Amino acid sequence: MKLLSFTLLLILSLINHSHAAKPNMIIILADDLGYRDVSFNGSKDINTPHIDTIAKNGIKCTQAYVTYSVCGPSRAGLITGRYQGRFGFERNPRFQPNNKNTGLDLKEDTIASLLKKANYHTGVIGKWHLGAHNVFHPLNRGFDEFYGMLGGGKRYFPSDLKIKNDKLAKTEEQSYRSYMNRNWKSEKTKKYLTEELTDEAVDFINRNSKKPFFLYLSYNAPHGPLQSPKKYMDRFPNIKEKKRKTYAGMVSCLDDGVGEVMKALRANKIEKNTIVVFLSDNGGPEKSNASNNGNLRGQKSDLYEGGIRVPFAIQWKGTIPAGKTYRKTISSLDIAATIVELAKVKTHPERPLDGINLVPVFTGKKKADPNRLITIRKFDHKGFVIKRGKYKLVIPPNSDTMELYDISKDIGEKKNIAKQYPEIVKELGEIRKQWVKELKDSYFDGLMVNKDGTPRKAKKKKK
Ligand code: CA
Repeated sequence: MKLLSFTLLLILSLINHSHAAKPNMIIILADDLGYRDVSFNGSKDINTPHIDTIAKNGIKCTQAYVTYSVCGPSRAGLITGRYQGRFGFERNPRFQPNNKNTGLDLKEDTIASLLKKANYHTGVIGKWHLGAHNVFHPLNRGFDEFYGMLGGGKRYFPSDLKIKNDKLAKTEEQSYRSYMNRNWKSEKTKKYLTEELTDEAVDFINRNSKKPFFLYLSYNAPHGPLQSPKKYMDRFPNIKEKKRKTYAGMVSCLDDGVGEVMKALRANKIEKNTIVVFLSDNGGPEKSNASNNGNLRGQKSDLYEGGIRVPFAIQWKGTIPAGKTYRKTISSLDIAATIVELAKVKTHPERPLDGINLVPVFTGKKKADPNRLITIRKFDHKGFVIKRGKYKLVIPPNSDTMELYDISKDIGEKKNIAKQYPEIVKELGEIRKQWVKELKDSYFDGLMVNKDGTPRKAKKKKK
């Protein structure tokens, strides 16, 4: 009997061990969330107790960058783990369900298609925005399950969704008013959209807790249109301004959603075996959705920190330390590199990943690279960021000027020190020249491009 129970224990521990070797991963992506709009980053008026638990159970990263300052290209970088410029995904794709060209290059792998090689079950819930034609459909890009929107967003209340199929939407605006997609079929929503996406995520976790899984939970909140049920807005009696109050309601509902997801992990006893990452796809567009990037300069679509530096927290209970703050540079590209390495998947030799596995850095087994590079290109506007360590070179859109900032001392990018450090400007400029050689031109037109292919001028901002 003793021997039998010993053998059983041994088998169980082996199973446990092999399972632990392939952790689950959940990416919770917020859309257009401001840097300062989570309490773990110091928000004073919006409290996010559930998102904060990820930082408490793991690490908050104060210097996390995405690869672009608007949705589409940033998501292309995140989901492939490669600079999206390597395959020319340089614009926010238009909603074009009949266009076989507008979407994520079919040669590229996604985190999902890579993890399929390690027998992961994969799902995406929420916003896709990587091509609306069937060839780009999540189920053709490595995902086993899809519930969400193919385009750049969706109105939040079921009564607003009147077009019965995404494919019937003729314009961007109409794609915000069409039904959701469940795999290949259209489906009407029943609840406020953020709540609905949360329910789907919980259901996904409950159904798949026994096998390694990857869930890309891509909320469209708090991206416009600003719509929130009253009950969430009522949580903020101190916020008087209507736009900010609506935005706060949207963020609070999203925060509840994170709470439900974490509860489902605990209920299924898989919290220790699941890496949870929370981030935003770009900085907050403060003027349009009333978000708050704190003391960062600029906003969504900018090359200053407010456009590209995002709230970021990651937990992996029992493996990475809890309650720590990591202040060195990381990239959204590191998410793919981390899970792909942990799952022991080989990437295509011609398409290596651009990020690093964060786990040994967080556990102290590996020293962080003090010269970590962050490179960003705005293709149409010939704008660039080349950041190495504390120095950040900014070439603003449509400009020949070079601006240099010391981010360690000047997070608000107030003091251009290019004249004081010409040699650093030159070095970073040289890195830019070499890096650009590895990139491709854009292969599809986007939201900010005229029909003749010329870049559309941004609308003049109302003062
Ligand atoms: Ca976005």
